[in-house]
Amino acid sequence: MTGTERGRILRRAADIMRARNRELSELETKDTGKPLQETLVADATSGADALEYFGGLAATLSGEHIQMGEDFIYTRREPLGVTVGIGAWNYPTQIACWKAAPALACGNTMVFKPSETTPLCALKVAEILIEAGAPPGVFNVVQGYGDVGAALVEDDRVAKVSLTGSVPTGRRVYAAAATGIKSVTMELGGKSPLVVFDDASLEDAVSAAINANFYSSGQICSNGTRVFVQDGIREAFLDRLSERLRGVTIGDPLDEATNFGPMVSERQREIVEGFVAKGRAEGARLVAGGGRPEGKGAGFWIEPTVFADVTDDMTIAREEIFGPVMSVFGFATEDEALARANATIYGLSAGVFTRDLARAHRVVAGLQAGSCWINTYNLTPVEAPFGGMKMSGVGRENGQVAIEHWSQIKTVYVAMGPVEAPY
Ligand code: NDP
Repeated sequence: MTGTERGRILRRAADIMRARNRELSELETKDTGKPLQETLVADATSGADALEYFGGLAATLSGEHIQMGEDFIYTRREPLGVTVGIGAWNYPTQIACWKAAPALACGNTMVFKPSETTPLCALKVAEILIEAGAPPGVFNVVQGYGDVGAALVEDDRVAKVSLTGSVPTGRRVYAAAATGIKSVTMELGGKSPLVVFDDASLEDAVSAAINANFYSSGQICSNGTRVFVQDGIREAFLDRLSERLRGVTIGDPLDEATNFGPMVSERQREIVEGFVAKGRAEGARLVAGGGRPEGKGAGFWIEPTVFADVTDDMTIAREEIFGPVMSVFGFATEDEALARANATIYGLSAGVFTRDLARAHRVVAGLQAGSCWINTYNLTPVEAPFGGMKMSGVGRENGQVAIEHWSQIKTVYVAMGPVEAPY
């Protein structure tokens, strides 16, 4: 197909997805436990944005022409071939679309394996793409555990693997892909810093810290789980945060008034509770939450939890929790904040709150993170490249740069004259 034809199908799929947003959001809520209040605005809608954005780019893909005297060179932008997408359980629809949309826009086919915890939504993405006109076999969903993912990665027919998952899985998948010299995109975990200077808007910084830790009950890779608050405003920050947390509505995720849902699985709650116990044992001060909310019935509930007086060596300060646990640290100077923010194996995201513009840009320039926000947090529109530095990943999703990760260049040298040879 031409790029225009591929783009038309992707854009049609985006329209279908938007028209069915409520139905898809309810399914996503049942799949993940995330509140409908969130899924209505953050899942199928983000998936549709990716289909629309890359649908729009598909017709613009091209090579270049390089004049070499009389001779010339042209490049062809070609698909990679059969690609594999492997997803985590926190954003099943979005992850499937963020991978499928650029892959299909570039003319590849994809076999997608969702997390076995959330198997439903990727099937809807496949149904919608077929309904929009994608030929059968262009986007395929295979269900299964990690071994199914591993089998896909090892298959000789596969040219590229894009994984969204944890660092340990990323290491295994990257190594298996290396054996076959396959391209990879790795969207892995994080332990991101959110640095709040004492000239920041306190109310906005508290709002951002709430969004950066408790949206999707904390099950977001880019979350700002290490909140560094400058000494002068730290207690005021904690007071206001505790006050605001009393306004949380924990309950049935299908009730649109609910703004905080359960963990995706019993296993994930156990992991999070293990970290809360370690935080307490290692001497962090529990400011809010820490337990299971009462009277919520079945569901893997855990309260939004805040620890203060956290030190950089504590387990909760170093390891990704992937649950609603915020750690608040104090700091005195900009240099200190920057050094401590970067003292992690991860490099996915980071945020800075200050009214001093020069300082905001200076700090961002020094932060080792793929996505940075100034005076906000966790906004990830499809127009912007997204991905990690250090152990948080390889390559980028979204934005125009994603095209480089889903296509390859063929160089064609064209001679216009006779061929000279030494003998
Ligand atoms: P996992 O790494 O456990 O799993 C991710 C996917 O990989 C699942 O589909 C899993 O299958 C599959 N898988 C497991 N082992 C292998 C293998 N050897 N070969 C191929 N595939 C395999 O992550 P979670 O699902 O627990 O998700 C949480 C993690 O994902 C967190 O670390 C989080 O930070 C990260 N994440 C990163 C994002 C980013 O964009 N950077 C976004 C969202 C999450 P199965 O689980 O079915 O066995």
